[in-house]
Amino acid sequence: MKKLITKKDLILLFVVLLAGIVGIVFMNSADEGKSAEIIVDGKTTEIISLDEAYEKQINGVVICCEKGEIYIKESNCPDKVCMRSGRISKSGESIICAPNRVAVKINGKKGNLPDAITG
Ligand SMILES: [Zn+2]
Repeated sequence: MKKLITKKDLILLFVVLLAGIVGIVFMNSADEGKSAEIIVDGKTTEIISLDEAYEKQINGVVICCEKGEIYIKESNCPDKVCMRSGRISKSGESIICAPNRVAVKINGKKGNLPDAITG
């Protein structure tokens, strides 16, 4: 399962960094209703609310959300950099697992999360 970092990983890393910068620019309206994007292989696969508990395994990475913080609970990657990133809770912060091509990024506002999910 051990993989070397490929060109594709570097591109993903670049895209995520760029997204982070954009996130910082839009940070003004940051304080309520935060959401986090789950990005797999460079594509956003899910947007979750930080208000709700969440735990899911994606590409060998267990992403966990509790008490408004997101962290990588477990990962099968060789370096475990993602796990050592700790917990993130602020807009624009992100955790990247390059070997598994998974990233989590916090957005300032809820965006297009459907309100109907609550209740
Ligand atoms: Zn990792």
